[in-house]
Amino acid sequence: MNSSGHDPRSTPMKTETVLVTAGRDTTAQKGFVNPPVVHGSTVLYPTADDLHAHRAEFQYGRHGTPTTKALQEAMMALEGPQCAGVGIVPSGLSAISTALLSALKAGDHLLVGDNIYRPSRNFCNGLLKRYGVETTFFDPLIGAGVAKFFKSNTAAVLVEAPGSQTFEMADIPAIAGVAHTHGAIVIDDNTWATPVYRRALEQGVDISLQAATKYIGGHSDIMFGTISANAKTWPRLVETIRELGVCAGPDDVFLALRGLRTLSVRLAHHQRSGLEMARWLAARPEVLQVLHPALESDPGHAIWKRDFSGASGLFSIVLKPAPQKAVDALLDTVRLFGMGYSWGGFESLVIPFDCDGYRSATTWAPGGPALRLHIGLENVEDLKADLERGFAAFNAANS
Ligand SMILES: *Cc1c(COP(=O)(O)O)cnc(C)c1O
Repeated sequence: MNSSGHDPRSTPMKTETVLVTAGRDTTAQKGFVNPPVVHGSTVLYPTADDLHAHRAEFQYGRHGTPTTKALQEAMMALEGPQCAGVGIVPSGLSAISTALLSALKAGDHLLVGDNIYRPSRNFCNGLLKRYGVETTFFDPLIGAGVAKFFKSNTAAVLVEAPGSQTFEMADIPAIAGVAHTHGAIVIDDNTWATPVYRRALEQGVDISLQAATKYIGGHSDIMFGTISANAKTWPRLVETIRELGVCAGPDDVFLALRGLRTLSVRLAHHQRSGLEMARWLAARPEVLQVLHPALESDPGHAIWKRDFSGASGLFSIVLKPAPQKAVDALLDTVRLFGMGYSWGGFESLVIPFDCDGYRSATTWAPGGPALRLHIGLENVEDLKADLERGFAAFNAANS
């Protein structure tokens, strides 16, 4: 597969090695470690015969370039042997919408976990509804109990574990088992764990997607999505991508591949610091609850332990009841925790949330104000000191 003789798909290499070697054709890259960033639309055919026979590795920029090929090969190797192909799209949300459009048609029924990424929910309630697809939301903790929601026209199930705000841990293998007995396909938003910490396609998932904007990009500088499909779903997915005409810019493809090379190192650090901060926060008098499935006390811990080989740096906390002004005082005092949407970059983030207005199959009543934290690559002692200052401001405004 590449000039150094490594074929990560046929030789069982460990994840870290796959991340470094996969998709590197150093002969084609004329010796350079990284592929060229191919800015291109038109591809020239050498002869009329080649043109008539569509004989060319690349036909048109929208359908792929040497840069996208390198990323696709690397992602396929990372996902494992179940992966038949990887679609490249311009954002995580477009990965979700494209995957759903590939799986559904007018008159179909869709099942969606109630803790799904909010814009995914909007896509189901908006565009899919207008195009004649009916969505039912279900409690993500229901496991095989999801069976009661299937109808004769249920074509797909969309899940996410853990939920990226509230961190409920769905039993995806159980849900997938039920879905397959009903002939439905399972689409999984695996952005939190990435394929490094959960090989979703090996757990019954048919399409596993990444908001590569997050950990794969890893530096808060790209919008990007990838869609990994098994052999059953790949033909329709690639057809849908072609019909929609979605593709990503070459610089972003390059940055996604570059992010992949260091993903295991970054994730290990996010995991370690995230867990240390989660334990430290659990012991704080201001904190009612920490929502982090890798904590032994978390209700989703057993599933996390069974299905995941690690945890990323994103989790939430619920504070003891306090007025908004106290929470705002904390937010305005911390310096290392930036306030902003998204996550998965090198930097720590904090964002308040309340999903009360966008749950329909479950209720969200945590008993206090909720904050989502992303633990970045800073030193944890600095992060604790920063939050300590934040809690001091919180307590001063709360007294
Ligand atoms: C951010 C996010 C997305 C969407 O990704 P974008 O690149 O922002 O479109 C999808 N799913 C999850 C879980 C996310 O956190």
